[in-house]
Amino acid sequence: MSIAPEIIARLKSAAGVNGFSEDPGEIAPHLEEWRSKYRGFSPLLLKPASVEQVSAILAICNETRTPIVPQGGNTGLVGGQIPFHGEVLLSLSHMNRIRHVDADGMSLIAEAGVILADVQRAADDTGRLFPLSLAAEGSCTIGGNLSTNAGGVNVLRYGNARDLMLGLEVVLADGRVLDLLRVLRKDNTGYDLKQLFIGAEGTLGVITAAALELFPKPAERVTAFAAVDDPKAALGLLSRLQDATGGLISAFEIMPRIGLEFVLLHIPQTSDPLRAPSSWYALVEATSAAHFDLQSIVERALEGNVNDAVIASSETQRENLWRLRESLSEAQKKEGGSIKHDISVPVARVPEFLETATRAVLARIPDARPVPFGHIGDGNIHFNISVPEGGDTPLFLARWDEISHIVHDIVHEFGGSISAEHGIGVMKRNEIARYKSAAEIETMRALKRTLDPNNILNPGKVLPD
Ligand SMILES: Cc1cc2nc3c(=O)[nH]c(=O)nc-3n(C[C@H](O)[C@H](O)[C@H](O)COP(=O)(O)OP(=O)(O)OC[C@H]3O[C@@H](n4cnc5c(N)ncnc54)[C@H](O)[C@@H]3O)c2cc1C
Repeated sequence: MSIAPEIIARLKSAAGVNGFSEDPGEIAPHLEEWRSKYRGFSPLLLKPASVEQVSAILAICNETRTPIVPQGGNTGLVGGQIPFHGEVLLSLSHMNRIRHVDADGMSLIAEAGVILADVQRAADDTGRLFPLSLAAEGSCTIGGNLSTNAGGVNVLRYGNARDLMLGLEVVLADGRVLDLLRVLRKDNTGYDLKQLFIGAEGTLGVITAAALELFPKPAERVTAFAAVDDPKAALGLLSRLQDATGGLISAFEIMPRIGLEFVLLHIPQTSDPLRAPSSWYALVEATSAAHFDLQSIVERALEGNVNDAVIASSETQRENLWRLRESLSEAQKKEGGSIKHDISVPVARVPEFLETATRAVLARIPDARPVPFGHIGDGNIHFNISVPEGGDTPLFLARWDEISHIVHDIVHEFGGSISAEHGIGVMKRNEIARYKSAAEIETMRALKRTLDPNNILNPGKVLPD
């Protein structure tokens, strides 16, 4: 598609002198996502700095039926932020102010383009915690986190992005501003409209600011890396740790030996923290806002329940343990690429799911290398399958859909979800039609028609054909 020069001129004028770019060199990094799986094109990058500018831009797009793709930090993993058909690109990166922090009221208001790590820092500076945490936190934005309902490593204790949001400011497709930016803990005045935009991936409105919930900052933090026999043993350990600490486990991640080996091979300055290899590992973090020797409690709970374990004794050691987990995706990339699944099943069924799905994948590609890892405490596993050793990566990746159907069918049989935290984007938009009921899909379409009747907001994303 092409956009008429007079529309481009109006959009540039609405975005202000420093609020746009037509320079291909400046636009290029916004067109390709992190894994180079998706690439798009766009003649115009808009970078508004105020809600009024976003409003003016959307009003023009709606009037002229010009499609527009919102973008935050461009770390999304399902292609939702990519303009595939020459749409206008709307970057929220200039809307990057923290508008307000209320330490006593435990809330913070940030514009959509604030980088997640900066939100965490602003909370920390006032003695509070904003617990959303994921490996992309140095690049992803709070607007993107809410639009994808991001999860990350602390969901176990604090919930998903949705649970951390108190209020929203949203610009609707026709340019009207929906001011839902309240910091209320209780508000039962009819439909909870702000929740519609969480996880909508920019298809129902553009988030320009959010009120977020803060928490007491941890006074004690214990981080352990433990060797366990298998995922079932890991779940047993989690249960005992939650009992022993009174529910103070904030993160509980698992990874198999092959994943650790990839990291040790490909990521500089990493080392195996334990003496002997183990088939599986659990990375555990417990935090408490008061001092009561949490470390002794965790140590006692680990004793007898793990084969070996190390507890970080400094911040550097803690960072080193977390690097083993956080760099797993990067290590898999360097190992030749992988077919990825971001699935969830009921927590207690994770071990059985892993056995069934691994067997099914290996029946199809016997020398493929499954590397399932992630947030087992949430029932959310990144069921990634690395290319066979020495194998042809493009040939292997060409089998993505075939393998995904097999895995997703098993997920469905287990009562699970084919997208636990990354969203739908383009990657899974047709796949959801296989698993959601006709009534569910039609209700989604009805919402889209109501809020974006001209289909200008991120068309071709989330909803199936
Ligand atoms: C190394 C790595 C690790 C990751 N780990 C995790 C993880 O643990 N958990 C997890 O949940 N995700 C994870 N992700 C995925 C990604 O970081 C999240 O989806 C993140 O929330 C995206 O934020 P973003 O600002 O980069 O959004 P983008 O990628 O720019 O956009 C994502 C979607 O949101 C829409 N959007 C963006 N901003 C707005 C806005 N202001 N208004 C309306 N729509 C908007 C876009 O159109 C797109 O559909 C990871 C990604 C990487 C690269």
